[in-house]
Amino acid sequence: MTFNKDDFVTLTIDDCGTSGEGIGKVDGYTLFVKDAIIGDVIKAKIIKAKKNYGYGRLIEIIKPSKDRVKPECPVSRQCGGCQILEMSYEAQLKYKYNLVKGNVERIGGISDYELLPVLGMEKPYRYRNKAQYPVGMDKNGNIITGFYAGRTHSIIECNDCLIGSEKNSAILETIKNWMKKCNIEPYNEKTGSGLVRHILVRVGYHTDECMVCVVVNSDDIDKKAGEILVDMLVKLRSRNINIQSVVANTNKENTNVILGKKCKTLYGRGYIEDYIGNIKYQISPLSFFQVNPAQTEVLYGKALEFAGLTGSETVWDMYCGIGTISLFLARKARKVYGVEIVPQAIEDARNNAKINGIENAEFFVGKAEEVVPAFYDEMKMKAAAGDEDAERSIHPDVVVVDPPRKGCDQILLSTIADMQPLRIVYVSCDSATLARDLAILEEEGYKTVKVQPVDQFAHTVHVETVCLLSRKD
Ligand code: SAH
Repeated sequence: MTFNKDDFVTLTIDDCGTSGEGIGKVDGYTLFVKDAIIGDVIKAKIIKAKKNYGYGRLIEIIKPSKDRVKPECPVSRQCGGCQILEMSYEAQLKYKYNLVKGNVERIGGISDYELLPVLGMEKPYRYRNKAQYPVGMDKNGNIITGFYAGRTHSIIECNDCLIGSEKNSAILETIKNWMKKCNIEPYNEKTGSGLVRHILVRVGYHTDECMVCVVVNSDDIDKKAGEILVDMLVKLRSRNINIQSVVANTNKENTNVILGKKCKTLYGRGYIEDYIGNIKYQISPLSFFQVNPAQTEVLYGKALEFAGLTGSETVWDMYCGIGTISLFLARKARKVYGVEIVPQAIEDARNNAKINGIENAEFFVGKAEEVVPAFYDEMKMKAAAGDEDAERSIHPDVVVVDPPRKGCDQILLSTIADMQPLRIVYVSCDSATLARDLAILEEEGYKTVKVQPVDQFAHTVHVETVCLLSRKD
């Protein structure tokens, strides 16, 4: 049976899509409905009809799923940031478990392995250490901060996203007051006029240090206005907001990219410090840093456990970013090599090694699929000439990979297999590409032993997974 646009239908939702949408069938016709969750019986209006499937809008919940909760967030339906706020946290974890299981078993074709329960958050709110709010003006000429309504650039006012720090709203209020006081206009995308585009806030999880970065459409902020801003922000310390760094970032481009390349420190240092485990990191406005530090510790703690280090091992950390995993492992290994494509991230990694007194980590800039095979060839030649260090580095004990969503490059996977590490620890942010890569590694002589999902992003459909593979022979 097919349906047409504007038809009303009643259906039971029995699956959840990759964007968190509910999926159900009416007489064999599949319908995708945003904001509906598994177990709901709903009335939907068809807004787009294809031959075999269509998209519906949720009109009425006839019988709510037993897992349905009232979202604590007042703007959950307008904001695209979280997709499954209507699901109880327990149900979210169950959904993520089944997602990983389905992918590993169906795409990866893997059956004989241990899938561990998802490690969820103790508190699934207020977990993000970084927030970026666009600044604009409402119809009545009031300055507002919030988020962009799905796929548009109109700002919906919201000063307190519940997955971000509770400190953000006071910081946003202060900046709006500063703009009024100094007659500063928000940036207008259409005309290119106005000054303030975005506000970026970072809060150290262990240190509580706060950085405020104001993104402006100008090379500089007026000196007097800059001083007033700093003064107003620093006063927030009396409200337990530990401002340690105020930075102006210049972005004069007509672009969706939030930050420009140039930063000017208006107060304090150009960075804040925070810890993951016992490793200290310096984080500037432009640095990449994990946004959920509490669960990053859980995830990388598992990676460390799976790596099974005793102190004598040679380890590779591929796709190493700012070296979070590399430095985590370096304290327990003989030598760690990291490779990463973004030069600035490697600069941060080297700096982070230095400030922690870590001397046994070495970093390479470049594509892992180019750097590692070239390194392997070079070391093979040296090893053939009797170099013992080279012999050790071509046969590392452990290889860790933490690739972006698209997964690992095939050439890299074969090179890793040639290097014959005893264990591979695969950290993944997309269980579908993970499953594809596990299948390749199984063919290359490795066995998937354990799969551990970790929830880093409550209320969203994302799930991180760390896997342990070991050599079959
Ligand atoms: N473990 C890292 C994060 C890894 S995210 C940390 O905690 O910092 C994936 C990383 O892979 C990103 O830093 C990205 O820049 C990098 N990357 C993407 N493609 C790459 C490639 N072909 N070779 C090496 N690194 C790559």
